[in-house]
Amino acid sequence: MPLDYPESFRELTRELRRLPGVGPRGAERIALWMFRSPHASPRALSRAVETACAQLKTCKLCGFFTHEEFCFLCSEEDRSGKELCVVEMITDILPLERTGAFRGRYHALGGKLSPLTGIGPEQLRVSELIDRIAAETPSEIILALGSDIEGEATAHYLAELISSTKVKVTRLAQGLPAGGGIEYADQRTLQRALLHRNLFGTP
Ligand SMILES: [Zn+2]
Repeated sequence: MPLDYPESFRELTRELRRLPGVGPRGAERIALWMFRSPHASPRALSRAVETACAQLKTCKLCGFFTHEEFCFLCSEEDRSGKELCVVEMITDILPLERTGAFRGRYHALGGKLSPLTGIGPEQLRVSELIDRIAAETPSEIILALGSDIEGEATAHYLAELISSTKVKVTRLAQGLPAGGGIEYADQRTLQRALLHRNLFGTP
C-alpha cells in the first residue's frame, strides 16, 4: 500500500495548492478543515465557485466584474468620460470608488509589467487602453498604480506610450499615510513625501 492519502483527497489538495499563497501544508490544512470544521460548507463553496465561473464576465470597457456586457460603473450615464483612471487589478476599482472622490471612468490592466514572470504589455489590457483613449478622448489619464518597482515601471511605460496622444497623464500622490507620524514612515515613503510635496497655505 502506498503511504499516501486517498486519490480524491490528493486531487483536492493539488487544486488548493494552485491558489495564490497556498503551499503543500496549507492545502492539507484547508482540505482537512473542509471536512472537519462545523463552520465549513464544502458543497456551498463548490456551488459558489461553479456559479461564479459560469456567470462572471469582465466588462468589455473597464475589465470590472459583470454579468452583462458592460459593468454597472460603465453603464452609469452621468459618469464623466473626461477622466480615465488606470488601475492594475479589477479589485483596485472599488476601493477608489468608495472614496467618493472620483466620478470618472476606470480601466483595469489585469496586472503590471513583470519581465521576470513573463508579463509584458501583450499580457495586459494595454492595447484596449489605447483604443479607449482614441475612442473616448479623455482629457486626463490618472495612473493609480502601485508604488513598487513593477508598478513604477508600468506607470513609466504607460506615460511614455500615452505621451504621443497628447492627453494629460497624472499619477496618484505618494507620501505619508493619513493619520501617521513622521517617525513611523520608512525612508522611501519620506523621500516620496518630500519629492511630491504640495503647496500649502498662502504664499
Ligand atoms: Zn466597466
